[in-house]
Amino acid sequence: MEVTIVGAGLVGCLLACFLARRGHHVTLYERRPDPREQGPDRGRSINLAMSERGIDALRRLGLDGKVLDAALPMAGRVMHAQDGALTFQPYSADRTQAINSIGRAALNRELLDVASALPGVEVRFGHRLTGLDERTGRLEFEHGEVADGARVVIGADGAFSAVRARLQQLPGVSFSQDYLDYGYKELSIPAKDGEFALDPGALHIWPRGRSMMIALPNRDRSFTCTLFWPHETLAALDTPQRISAYFGEHYSDAVELMPGLAADFRANPVGHLVTMRCSPWHVTTEAATVGLVGDAAHAIVPFYGQGANCGFEDCVELDRCLDETGDDFPAALELFERRRADTDVIARLALDNFVEMRDRVGSRVFLAGKRVEHTLERALPGYVSRYELVSFSTTPYSQAERRIARQRRAVAAAAAGAALLALGFAARHGRRGRRSGRPGHENG
Ligand code: FAD
Repeated sequence: MEVTIVGAGLVGCLLACFLARRGHHVTLYERRPDPREQGPDRGRSINLAMSERGIDALRRLGLDGKVLDAALPMAGRVMHAQDGALTFQPYSADRTQAINSIGRAALNRELLDVASALPGVEVRFGHRLTGLDERTGRLEFEHGEVADGARVVIGADGAFSAVRARLQQLPGVSFSQDYLDYGYKELSIPAKDGEFALDPGALHIWPRGRSMMIALPNRDRSFTCTLFWPHETLAALDTPQRISAYFGEHYSDAVELMPGLAADFRANPVGHLVTMRCSPWHVTTEAATVGLVGDAAHAIVPFYGQGANCGFEDCVELDRCLDETGDDFPAALELFERRRADTDVIARLALDNFVEMRDRVGSRVFLAGKRVEHTLERALPGYVSRYELVSFSTTPYSQAERRIARQRRAVAAAAAGAALLALGFAARHGRRGRRSGRPGHENG
């Protein structure tokens, strides 16, 4: 089958590999020039935390080793308090599990290399989709180019998908987008005397209540920092003096590691944080089937580190749907709609995790709660934290949520049982005490 994928980002490239393996011919249309021939976008490097879902998808194609070789494992979070105190919180009870810091652009280049080397895959750069007619399978691109008669079109063109924009115009297609009042901006902590300036085995967080900064390590021994701040705070720091003063007050231990702070802050763009929902993700006409995957189908905020992981898992799931339907794309895309139950869950968890990261991780009560959770994991066979289920397993997100709810009920019931036992014990002990008191009294 001839398949057209719009968008040669992370998910488009990986999907092309899965489809080529099934023997399909894939044409990838990408609006940008070939990123392997370009320099990096300033302030848009984005490090990803790659975890089990993404790795599992890569493993199925034999790509996990190469990707992980280029990544840096982070076994936990280091919290930087305002007074400079550091607290390490491991991601897993046994401290062996890690998420992996990897540059998005490098990963994209790697996947492009792999995809474009496969027989049956062609990548056309400089092709921005501007129009799509699902009734005929006609695609229109910037500069007037046209491709006619596409039978299967998959939009992997990101959060602001042009393919989805067409689907949104059709009756029966629901769509919502929710922006946070926050923007993100990248900064950098360069290597210090040729070494990492912070522990490279952790993700660093500066939780500051309403806002936060995080830093992930890079192989060149620098860290990419990302501010997640209310838009008004980002806009208010409009002079080098204000920038230095603000960072000196709120990020005092980091500011001395950021020699380019004021220049980077002023030069680097502000990104937006958005959750996109669309239903259904596909439309089939007599001429063509058009579907969506990755951020085009379900862009989420980055606070669980799952956007790309979830998009990679889409590829695995669509591959499974093709298995189940004998490569009947309309039927497979219909089956693939069941995945919305999972993507809705991770969209919600990602929003909830923002509050945890920017605020709660700094509190003693939260850290004590995490220690209790890890103790439960070690003590109770089968008890797994939500973070571990999301990041270190491929349990579908919705099943993971059901399991967490069951575990909480079981722990609450056990706690209530233990409390009742303790009350019973106290009552018996009390009675015995009174009984034993009486003879004493009598004796006395
Ligand atoms: P994209 O990566 O957006 O790729 C879409 C591609 O389509 C691009 O190449 C684009 O040029 C192309 N395109 C767009 N429009 C057109 C058009 N009209 N015609 C042709 N081509 C087009 N995810 C994680 O898993 N872990 C993390 O730690 C993490 N951290 C993040 C931090 C930040 C600050 C942000 C913003 C995101 C983060 N993500 C993370 C999310 C992750 O980056 C995305 O989920 C992922 O890039 C989605 O991949 P995609 O291929 O669906 O979309």
